[in-house]
Amino acid sequence: MKKVAVVFNGGTISMKVDPRIKAAVPSLTGEEIMTMVTGIEEYAQVESYSFSNLPSPQMSPETMLELSKYIQNLLNREDISGVVVTHGTDTLEETAFLLDLTIKSEKPVVVTGAMRNGSELGYDGPSNLAASICTVISNESKNRGVLVCLNDELNCASEVTKSNSMSLDTFKSPNFGPIGIVDSNEVIFYRDSIKKQHIETDKIETNVDLIKCAAGMDSKIINYCIEQGSKGFVIEALGRGNVPPLMVEGIHKAINQGIPVVLVSRCFQGRVLDSYGYHGGGKELRNLGVIFGDNLPGQKARIKLMLALGKTTNINEIKDIFESGFYHKF
Ligand code: ASP
Repeated sequence: MKKVAVVFNGGTISMKVDPRIKAAVPSLTGEEIMTMVTGIEEYAQVESYSFSNLPSPQMSPETMLELSKYIQNLLNREDISGVVVTHGTDTLEETAFLLDLTIKSEKPVVVTGAMRNGSELGYDGPSNLAASICTVISNESKNRGVLVCLNDELNCASEVTKSNSMSLDTFKSPNFGPIGIVDSNEVIFYRDSIKKQHIETDKIETNVDLIKCAAGMDSKIINYCIEQGSKGFVIEALGRGNVPPLMVEGIHKAINQGIPVVLVSRCFQGRVLDSYGYHGGGKELRNLGVIFGDNLPGQKARIKLMLALGKTTNINEIKDIFESGFYHKF
């Protein structure tokens, strides 16, 4: 029987409602949660580990990188077939993507959580854990990068985002759809993962700012961040990758100071390109030297830029990390 390490790392899956404040707080230990995953001993030998009990808004990029090293150590053990890690759903996609970019192993790593806490009717923690463990023990799950498993659906960490603040069916891959499903404890993959990237670094540069564009914005926030010593920017641009004209000056200033600026779109689907030639359009930004972030949402592009800057401060290398394999004509 395969041995699966389950790393407990907080989130709603380990919360219950505190009757005094009438709100969910961390309460359940890994062992307590595992006792609710009834019958799992017929599928796998589970070893529980406790990494943290954090609500995911309290996860920092440094902690994410520590978690990556912790999981890598478990994967390096011969007796462990793969790892399931719990996480609050709010920033789950950021951690899952960081794990995907930094962990080197063909063994499955599955990130899971819950949308309903242990005090709610229909607590989804145990069923999500069961499906995640079934995913790890499947031979089909090897070499697929980090997967996210909730609501019996499997999504690639590189593609997934939280799409709904309440629904159990919240994790979606807007550009590609799920990679597979878990049906009656069996894993079925519909396709291969699109692209698997690895960033070799044991450092992370956390001083990276994410700025979302909206009509009529100017360079005030960018200029402030430059003054504060920002080491990189992700701009969640409009549509195909355009910004309000008054933001161009700030972007220009950052690039002139050697600060990488990664452009992504605030749209839920699609990627950026230099399609528009007007003032503030993608062509002008590209000519200034922005790096294209493909179809990543801002929060995931920011994680990638933090890791890229942990590895190198060379703009061309950073550009390569974001664009090679994604933008053939550049
Ligand atoms: N706010 C919670 C968290 O991210 C949500 C969840 O876990 O579903 O920790």
